[in-house]
Order: sequence, then structure tokens, then C-alpha cells
Amino acid sequence: DGAPGSKRTSRVRVAVRLRPYMDKQDEKGEGSCVRGLGPQKLEIINWRNATETLQYQFDMFHGEQTTQQEVFLTSVKPVLPHILNGQNASVFAYGPTGAGKTHTMLGSQEQPGIIPRAVKEVFKLVEAQETEQDGWEYAIGMSYLEIYNEKVLDLFLNRTTASTKLNQRSSRSHAILLIKVVKSQRGPPHRQQTGKLYLVDLAGSEDNRRTGNQGIRLKESGAINLSLFTLSKVVDALNAGAGGRVPYRDSKLTRLLQDSLGGSAHSVMITNIAPEYRYYFDTFSALNFAAKSKQI
Ligand code: ADP
Ligand code: MG
Repeated sequence: DGAPGSKRTSRVRVAVRLRPYMDKQDEKGEGSCVRGLGPQKLEIINWRNATETLQYQFDMFHGEQTTQQEVFLTSVKPVLPHILNGQNASVFAYGPTGAGKTHTMLGSQEQPGIIPRAVKEVFKLVEAQETEQDGWEYAIGMSYLEIYNEKVLDLFLNRTTASTKLNQRSSRSHAILLIKVVKSQRGPPHRQQTGKLYLVDLAGSEDNRRTGNQGIRLKESGAINLSLFTLSKVVDALNAGAGGRVPYRDSKLTRLLQDSLGGSAHSVMITNIAPEYRYYFDTFSALNFAAKSKQI
């Protein structure tokens, strides 16, 4: 659990990304229930009183027009050099199914997301270091993990298959791509350092109780709720500052990511939301999840 008092723990930066309106079935044409108010703020209709809005502020707000490139440049690229220095980092996409998590993390051929951009950038950084002849040798490793029903599946896949897998995966498991940079000193004392970057496409945050899930679905829902709830407690504890207990051990996800979340690690949570009214309550709860974690 969290180091008692002594070391400074880094906070988790919280960004919100609103995807464009795209509900073609929405014949009523009710429009969006949420809109941006600048680079850190947004407002959402107040369900108690539709003539009012509620405003939220985060470390970063990415509006409908934000490109994949902008999300990468602002939220991810700055943390990558730390991976080459033996530090760890993690990027999470949180939010309801359909709100843009996979688009943000993986994207498409035409609009590549964080994963392909981060992989490319890590290779570029390592190549640049190697031509510097800095006395270290670098090796890059990748693995693809999935957490389903509190079990970790390590699929040891290569990049292409991992990407296919990520695209087809269920919204009821957490998909995790791990990029590892191991650097070894060429001469004595032959020290070694490892930096890890976890890129996580989380299970959908929608309220599973509403859909009347039973049996196996109910078990899945329990596991999803446990890990997302624990993740929110961990992020809250980290962002509340020194001292408190950080409940990493309460779920598989947070246990796995422990050394890449808090401590000296660099972490970013991207909360994905959709503008259509039918997402309203899931959006509202995702914003409250993100807002609790912001601490400005
Ligand atoms: P999730 O992974 O959260 O379930 P997806 O990433 O699959 O959501 O997004 C749902 C749909 O919305 C997909 O068709 C995706 O291409 C599209 N989409 C999501 N975000 C954006 C965006 N920022 N711009 C354009 N299309 C988007
Ligand atoms: Mg998805």
C-alpha cells in the first residue's frame, strides 16, 4: 500500500473528452445535453431543472473538434521521455460504452489513437538515445493483457494482433497494452532500469444494474464495478495528497497497475463522454467520477 508519509506522490491528471454528436436514430433531434466552455470547463443540463446547467472543471477538456493528434500531444507525449529514465506511466480511458474510449486509445487507420502514436514515439525516442551513444543499451517489449472477472489474461501478443484484439474486445473487460523499455549499462557496473507504460481501455462504466443483468452478466458487472470503484478510490486517495491509505490491493486492475499509478509515476485519466441525451445519466456519473479526481 501507499508509502507512509515520506515520499511525494504524484497526482493523476484528469482530462475529459467529448465526442461529436452522432446519434442518427435520435429522430427527436434533441441535440446535445453537454457542451464545452473553454479548455478546462464544460456544462451539462441539470436533470432536476432543465433550464439550468451544471458546470465542471478538469485539468483538461477536449471538445468535439479535438483531433487525435491534439489529445496525444497534450495528454500523452509529455510523459513518454520518463519511460526511458526508468519511470512508469499510465493512461486510462474511462467512460460508458459508445463514448469513444477505443477511438481515443486505439483509433482507426485514418485516425490513429494514443496506442499507435505512443508506440511510434517510444521507438523514436529510443532510436534518438541510441545515436547519442549515452552508454546504455535499450530494449523495447510489449504485452497485451486483459482483465475479465478479476482474472488477468496475458496474451503475449505482437503489436498487430494486440491491436486487432483491442478492436474486437468486449466492453466488459479491461484491455491493457504494456510497453516496457529496459535499459542496460554497456559497461560496469552494468546497471539496469525498466520503465513501464500502461495504456488502458477500461470496461464500460455504464450502470449495469439498469439493464437487469443476471447470471454470468451479473458476475461480470460485479467485477467491473469493483475494479472501477477501486480505481476511483485509488485516484481520489492519490489526489487528496500525502498520508491516506491507497487501496491498490482491493482489485486486480489497481494491483497490476500499482507501480504505474501514484508514487513517482505519471498518470493520466481520460474520461470519454457522449453528447446525446440517451447517455445523460452515464455521462453525469462519469463526470462526477472525473470531478472527484480533479482537485484544482
Ligand atoms: P467505446 O470504446 O467507449 O465503447 P468507441 O471508441 O467504440 O466507444 O466509439 C463509439 C463510436 O463513436 C465509434 O464508431 C467511434 O468511431 C466513434 N467516435 C468516438 N469518438 C469519436 C471522435 N472523437 N470523433 C469521431 N468519432 C468518434
Ligand atoms: Mg470500446
